[in-house]
Amino acid sequence: MFTLAIVGRPNVGKSTLFNRLVGKRLALVDDRPGVTRDRREGEGRLGDLSFTIVDTAGLEEADTASLEGRMRAQTEAAIRDADAILFVIDARAGLTPTDRAFADLVRRAGRPVILIANKSEGRKGGAAAVEGFELGLGTPIPLSAEHGEGLSDLYDAICETL
Ligand code: GDP
Ligand code: MG
Repeated sequence: MFTLAIVGRPNVGKSTLFNRLVGKRLALVDDRPGVTRDRREGEGRLGDLSFTIVDTAGLEEADTASLEGRMRAQTEAAIRDADAILFVIDARAGLTPTDRAFADLVRRAGRPVILIANKSEGRKGGAAAVEGFELGLGTPIPLSAEHGEGLSDLYDAICETL
């Protein structure tokens, strides 16, 4: 069984993708204090693939000045434990400085990365998807976690990556 970590700035749809892949099979909620507090792990399935999948931090839940550091530490821990990273950007919002900061973190980890342009329902490509190339993390896969579109392309990407 391999492990995928879903990484990206807040609000790009990481948890929606997590829920889409895990469905009702949520295996465990890790509520230990500290950097792992917001970490959720489950058994993901996509086609005939089965894997451990890890969702990462909810910025909105934080309440201290150390939040950014905590998020970064949590993301780094998830990346360390993962065989590959699903790096999520928001195809509607376009790239932000925070996307680029998370991308730097991911790039430094030296793990295989699958770049996902989420919120791409009903459109082909779009400016943000093209922008995604700038991150240097490969070709963005247009996906809609909310509507369940683009999942077969994600399946293909996972198969090619692992
Ligand atoms: P996270 O902070 O990265 O975990 O993002 P969430 O999964 O909590 O989603 C943030 C917001 O984006 C929510 O309002 C979701 O309903 C919305 N969202 C997630 N996926 C999609 C999508 O594929 N399309 C659209 N239009 N909205 C989405
Ligand atoms: Mg979330």
